[in-house]
Order: sequence, then C-alpha cells, then structure tokens
Amino acid sequence: MLKGKKAVITGGTSGIGKEIANVFAAQGADVIVFGTNAQRAQQIVQELKQLYPSQEFSYELLDVSKINEVEKALNDVLEKWNSIDVLVNNAGITKDNLLIRMKEDEWDQVISVNLKSVYNTCRVLARSMMKAKAGTIINITSVIGLTGNAGQVNYAASKSGMIGFTKSLAKELASRGVRVNCIAPGYIDTPMTTGLPEKVKESILSSIPMNRMGEPKEIANAALFLASDLSKYITGQVLTVDGGMVM
Ligand code: NAP
Repeated sequence: MLKGKKAVITGGTSGIGKEIANVFAAQGADVIVFGTNAQRAQQIVQELKQLYPSQEFSYELLDVSKINEVEKALNDVLEKWNSIDVLVNNAGITKDNLLIRMKEDEWDQVISVNLKSVYNTCRVLARSMMKAKAGTIINITSVIGLTGNAGQVNYAASKSGMIGFTKSLAKELASRGVRVNCIAPGYIDTPMTTGLPEKVKESILSSIPMNRMGEPKEIANAALFLASDLSKYITGQVLTVDGGMVM
C-alpha cells in the first residue's frame, strides 16, 4: 500500500512510532525515524534493514522541539529524497502534575515536545508537499485532547492544540492535494503507560468498553489507512482508536 513512498516518523524509536515504522516498512515504504535515543534508533533501523533489504531506512537523532535541529534534518532528507510523501508527528512526552503543583518547566517541555514540534516539522514539509501537490500528514494526538484529564493540563492542552493545528492546516493545504489528519489513541500498551500505578491502570480499564488496552499495531494500522490512498477523500479529521472510550 505504500510501495515507493517516503515516510518520516518522529518518535519512531519506541512504542507507537516504532510500530508505525514497522507497518509502513512492511507495506513498502522507505522510512526515516527521528528520536533522541541512539541505541533504540540504531536497533529499529537495523531490524528493518534485515527484514526489507531493498528498502531504505535511517534515523536522525534530534530534539523535535528545537526548530533549528528539525529544519536541518528535514532539509537534509529533502536533499536526499527530493520529496517526503508521509509525515507522522508522533513524538510525545508526559510530565503529569496537578495545575497548582505544576512547574513552569513541566508546562514548557510538554508544550514544546508535543505541540511546537508539529509546527517545526510541518513548516518545512508543507512547503515541499505543496510543491509536489501531494502528501499526507498524520498527527498523533490523544483522547485526552478531546476529554481533558485531571493532572494533565499540559498534556491535554498540547494534544487539543494539535487538533486545532491539524484542522487549520488541512484547510490551508486541501486544495494543494495535501491531507492532514489526527489519530487520537486511547490507552495503549507502550513504555509511556507501563509505569502507571496499578490503581490508575485499573480505573482506566474500567472506562474502556472493550475492557482492554490497545496495542501499538492497532494505532499503526490506523496510520496506514490515513497514509494510503484508501483515505484519499479524508482530511482535517480526528480518528479515535480507543476501544470505545470516547463516543
Ligand atoms: P513512548 O514509547 O514513550 O515513545 C515516545 C517517542 O517520542 C519515543 O520514540 C521518543 O524517542 C520520542 N521523543 C520524546 N521526546 C522527544 C524529543 N524531544 N525529540 C524527539 N523524539 C522524542 O510513547 P508512546 O506511547 O509510543 O507515544 C507515542 C505518541 O502517542 C505520543 O505522542 C503520545 O502522546 C501518544 N499517545 C500515546 C498513548 C498511550 O496510551 N501510549 C495514548 C494517546 C496518545 P526517544 O526515546 O528516542 O527519545
């Protein structure tokens, strides 16, 4: 479904992003993952090269919240590939705290990594996708951006911000053949959620009609749909993949 397509996945070194890289590669895409952890980045690229030797895989180590690092990396990729067909803004962090205890740094870091990063990548790639009159951008938001959550004003604000950003950019780029959508995962089994206390996990599980956590592959399959021509008349949407948590 993605044969010959070129994809960049931020946070492609772990959890959901790593699975998106796997699924895109299995469907024929060349993939570059962005992350900060060299060991994890090397490992995913090595695994993909072994599985799909005729395709191209590499990684860039950078902080997605730093505009200069992102611009340089994406411009290098564009020089090599000429165009990028699919951008997945997946890198994200949490720094949970009640608002009255939340430090400025906890607010700033979450907004920068989760939201400013989307501005950083899209500003470079919107231009090249407009020129190519093709491309699809997928922003990984969260059900928390739809519902809010006590202890996560920073995370919820960043994820709601991604939704507003997505709808606005979708309107700017629709006539140029570029689609922009969000996926809002529910509660997914990744390193981001493994550390949650048992009590919190139990309470989240009780709010999921399907009564289980999601798997990274279930988000990756939704990303494949939005990246492929199967969704070619869909833009500006939020696809919620959450076992029925938010209806
Ligand atoms: P994860 O396993 O912790 O992965 C997070 C990824 O983001 C890692 O690859 C990490 O790369 C990258 N990253 C973090 N800070 C970065 C930075 N400053 N620069 C570049 N890369 C950075 O978490 P996950 O659960 O897969 O989360 C992926 C996305 O899904 C996030 O946006 C998250 O908010 C969203 N989400 C997750 C859930 C869930 O239940 N898991 C639910 C809703 C939404 P390095 O490790 O290389 O730094």
